[in-house]
Amino acid sequence: MNTLLHSPGRAEVRDELGRGTFDLLVIGGGIVGIAAAWTAAQAGLRVALVDAGDFAGATSSASTKLVHGGLRYLQTGNVRLVAENHRERRSLAAQVAPHLVSPRRFLVPIYADGPHGAAKLGAGVFLYSALSAFGDGLGRVVSRANALDQVPALRAEGLRAAAVYTDHQMNDSRVAIMTVRAAVAAGATVLNHAAVRGLRRSGGRIVGADLRDALDGTEFGVTARLVLNATGPWLDRLRTMEDPSSGPSIRLSKGAHLVVRQQEPWRAAVTVPVDRYRVSFAIPWEDHLLLGTTDEPYDGDPADVRATDADVAQILAEAGHALDGLRREDVAYAFAGLRVLPGGPGDVATAKRETVITEGRGGMLSIAGGKWTTYRHIGRIVLERLGVGADVLKTVPLPGLATPAAVAHRLVAAPMEPSVAAHLATHYGTLAFDLADLVRRDPALGAPVHPDGPDIWAQVVYARDREWAATPDDILRRRTTLTLRGLDTPEIRARVADLLEEPPHVHLP
Ligand SMILES: Cc1cc2nc3c(=O)[nH]c(=O)nc-3n(C[C@H](O)[C@H](O)[C@H](O)COP(=O)(O)OP(=O)(O)OC[C@H]3O[C@@H](n4cnc5c(N)ncnc54)[C@H](O)[C@@H]3O)c2cc1C
Repeated sequence: MNTLLHSPGRAEVRDELGRGTFDLLVIGGGIVGIAAAWTAAQAGLRVALVDAGDFAGATSSASTKLVHGGLRYLQTGNVRLVAENHRERRSLAAQVAPHLVSPRRFLVPIYADGPHGAAKLGAGVFLYSALSAFGDGLGRVVSRANALDQVPALRAEGLRAAAVYTDHQMNDSRVAIMTVRAAVAAGATVLNHAAVRGLRRSGGRIVGADLRDALDGTEFGVTARLVLNATGPWLDRLRTMEDPSSGPSIRLSKGAHLVVRQQEPWRAAVTVPVDRYRVSFAIPWEDHLLLGTTDEPYDGDPADVRATDADVAQILAEAGHALDGLRREDVAYAFAGLRVLPGGPGDVATAKRETVITEGRGGMLSIAGGKWTTYRHIGRIVLERLGVGADVLKTVPLPGLATPAAVAHRLVAAPMEPSVAAHLATHYGTLAFDLADLVRRDPALGAPVHPDGPDIWAQVVYARDREWAATPDDILRRRTTLTLRGLDTPEIRARVADLLEEPPHVHLP
């Protein structure tokens, strides 16, 4: 039988954070901070991780959800970056999270009036597949008829052929939560909704931070040997707290996405060349189509980033270069995030997506940029800066490792509706059995939260008791798929808010 041990309460966690000196305090619970905390905890260090909002509440839940080599980086000649990304992609898909990351075939349609010809695209996808040692098959050009068969919505007029390659995809906010869980299992102490408001110093060195719990206003502090600033778009704010004279180190670029209701399922995703440099994606995801993204300089408050009406129009128009039948009324949800690019001159769309690492005058390490795909690499960089060798570390899978089809099969026998079983298996792996256990104890928790989606009430309770969810958005937007499917009605929000007030549902020894 599964044991559903209740996570410690926030007051207990704050007490633990205030006790003694940590080896590492990570500020920022996006994937960069989470990965750094996980890696350092695996190495045996005492690690604290805090976030002002929810884990993965900013950029890390606003990505294109791809675990990818990055075909477009071949345009800028960055072959080494593509090969490194491919290595991480294949490791995540095969060893770390095969239950949460799945392969996805992509078509790049080749049009008579398109920016790239068949010879160039064919060579591009061949090189792309070669850089991952043909581990996902051969990148090649397929016929017009083959392309239309895989994606019937492709614009047929002027279509000559399509280049085909393979990458992987995931639900970014769920993978982030599973990684927080892995970090905690390795010994890290974590708290979301706790903002750093000032840095602690001793003899000019940064030795910790002062925080405020956003939920009840409690103020507390954390002391650490090394403070890691992993605040993504907020990076320079923390650097200014460390040293008011520090100049900007990053630029921001906004990327928006749409989640669109899909009429009929496709067998492949589409990479739409927009011009010589930019592409837009149309990717089957969570029974919908994920469209995007844009790439525009942004200098507002990172907390205010939104997908605007102009973004919606631009994304639909760009996808419309290659797809028929996209309608504004089918948009279920729109969101935006901020890429962190190295500071300095250059057009944002052609700037290389690289990691920015700086060490400030007070010894605080600031790290941002990079990609979801290479997050483990970032963890290892931090470890090296801590003077701890990463060589001893093995590749550790995320919690719930299993074959999703087998998990789903067992859930159906529980019994559970097949679409719900498939949804739980691919978002929780074997942890889905904890959810089945909740349903067995209280069958009402097996009911769908909304009749049009596969999320069930057990996930809401589980998110509260086991996944650090504290607000309706934590649950509706990031632990479940209700918001992105456009299913978070006021009634559901109110019911979720009520459940958050209730004590933990299940107490087991
Ligand atoms: C539009 C877009 C599409 C992308 N698509 C992909 C993709 O398909 N594949 C891929 O591999 N990568 C992709 N990326 C890149 C990837 O999403 C990012 O590299 C990654 O999410 C960055 O994570 P982060 O932890 O640095 O930042 P964030 O996720 O932004 O985390 C920073 C955290 O710091 C917290 N914080 C800020 N201030 C404080 C404070 N004072 N105290 C405590 N906490 C604080 C914030 O609340 C936030 O949660 C994409 C990025 C964008 C913008």
